[in-house]
Amino acid sequence: MRLPRTVTAVAGLPLAGAVRTVWRADRRGTLTAGSLQVVGALSGLGLVFASHLALSAILEDGAGASGLVLPLVLLAVTTSVSASVGVLQGLQQRLLGERVSQHVWRELLTSCAAVDLLTYESTAFLNRLERVRGNAVSRPLSVVSALFSVLGSLIGVVAMTASLVAVAPLLVPVLLLGAVPAVLVSRRVAKAEFRFTRRATAFTQKRAYLKSLLSHRVTAAELRAFDAAPELIRRHDGHDAEYLALLERHVAARRRQALAGLVFSAVALAAALAVIVWLASSGRISLPDAGAAAIAARLLGGQLSTAFRSFGRLVESAPFLADLAAFQADHPPHPVAGRRHELRGALTVSGVDFTYPGQDRAALQDVTFSVPRGQVVALVGENGSGKTTLAKIVAGLYTPGAGSVDWDGRPLGEDDLRASCSVLFQDFLRYMMSVSDNVAISDTSVPRDDARVRQTIDRVGVGVAVDRLDKGMDTVLGVELEEGADFSGGQWQRLALARALYRDSSVVVLDEPSAALDPRAEHELFRDVRTVLDGRAAVLISHRYSSVRLADLIYVMHEGRIVESGTHEELVAADGRYAELYALQAEGYSAA
Ligand code: ADP
Repeated sequence: MRLPRTVTAVAGLPLAGAVRTVWRADRRGTLTAGSLQVVGALSGLGLVFASHLALSAILEDGAGASGLVLPLVLLAVTTSVSASVGVLQGLQQRLLGERVSQHVWRELLTSCAAVDLLTYESTAFLNRLERVRGNAVSRPLSVVSALFSVLGSLIGVVAMTASLVAVAPLLVPVLLLGAVPAVLVSRRVAKAEFRFTRRATAFTQKRAYLKSLLSHRVTAAELRAFDAAPELIRRHDGHDAEYLALLERHVAARRRQALAGLVFSAVALAAALAVIVWLASSGRISLPDAGAAAIAARLLGGQLSTAFRSFGRLVESAPFLADLAAFQADHPPHPVAGRRHELRGALTVSGVDFTYPGQDRAALQDVTFSVPRGQVVALVGENGSGKTTLAKIVAGLYTPGAGSVDWDGRPLGEDDLRASCSVLFQDFLRYMMSVSDNVAISDTSVPRDDARVRQTIDRVGVGVAVDRLDKGMDTVLGVELEEGADFSGGQWQRLALARALYRDSSVVVLDEPSAALDPRAEHELFRDVRTVLDGRAAVLISHRYSSVRLADLIYVMHEGRIVESGTHEELVAADGRYAELYALQAEGYSAA
């Protein structure tokens, strides 16, 4: 819907976006809510008219009781219409609000899903996302009610002004004057609200983090083991106190502004009523006119204050909506564009450099290595040597600063790399979903193949554990959702491996796939790693040399560079860094 420019120009604010959002979310609901507002506003006019008729009937000599019937019926009808419209409006707006909320959330989540992984490393982005999530998402709801409230009260203002002009034009400027302070402060209030929320975001984020630490299942064990909760609660209280102090200052300022506006409006209404008394007592207007004018003045005062209050809420929400719009413009949702490629020759990483944003030191420097089709290539090295970063580049999750990732000799973009690779992350997700969902989530581009899910689960050796569960493959994991069903760390890790293998890809990146496995499980899994991989090439990151030694080729990383490469035997014979790390581990075992 294109909103007339004048409307937004009058508001002087980007309200068109808000209106467009509401309209797109629910056209019929918007029209219904709008119609109810019009009926509600006009019922006020009916009330004034009916009161005038009633007073005339009472004051007119000889009219008798029968003359009162029509005015009183009209009074009853307009009063009940006005009351029932109020109730219906509330219900309608609740529904409309939910639709708008769903619409905005869907857009925001689609935007978030399109944001590349590296952006999630940026604090500025995370702060912005938090602000948008916390405010812009709830603001459209208040915009919905404020928007209709402004519309309804403006119609009411026009109707009441018209009826007052007919009876006592002098009252109009007095009442309009009463609303001036509200207009003057609305912009200032909007800016203050936005500033407050910006400042509060830091506290909100810290508090939310501590709340989740203190109340989640995965954190419960460590917090108890270290008795860390009292200290974390103390920190949480500290942030609470800082936030409260900020809020108190903000509310005090807003209270002063609101009170000033209210006093001004009350004085204006009192002045208007005094003018009516004077007009009636000096015989300038009739008593029915005075009665109708008093009701109209009271209603106009109410409508004006509602109009400006609602307008204020609209103005207040505008910066947040602009924030949301800017976020969506900066991170437009885009469809997954990657195309899956089959690896026929080799995947080659050539001269790759990579530096994390805001870091001086490069995480990777001039890295070159190759993963031939169907082969297992291991990356080893100390913590921080760059293995995970390199794995993320291979999987198309980060864009290298220099160099390229070639697939069968041709450079492949990140989208295609992501579509063609599969990954088992060190900190893989434990979806609170069924066992089958936990596996099949890695390849939703094709209809689920239950037989293949089962086959993959068996191949990684977790089939027996699955069969022991109440509902087998349909058991929902995670005791938060279903009583009692959960896996051990090692079983979860194998399930995550099944997830990585279920995805139809010819290269799979395995970042520490056996960290949670016991030696027997690890041995069983890696004894025949090629059967498990079923023809896929693998980039294997591991500190367990018992697994690494089975790789076709091993690359040793040190401070972001590849410093050695070869088979296990070659590297041991070369007596370099690998031989040293291997000996250290072997020594540990023999000493034990
Ligand atoms: P590894 O997997 O070998 O332990 P990583 O690839 O995780 O090593 O890390 C390589 C280097 O990059 C380290 O110096 C680490 O501190 C840095 N690094 C890793 N992740 C980030 C990040 N998100 N932001 C900034 N620096 C990072």
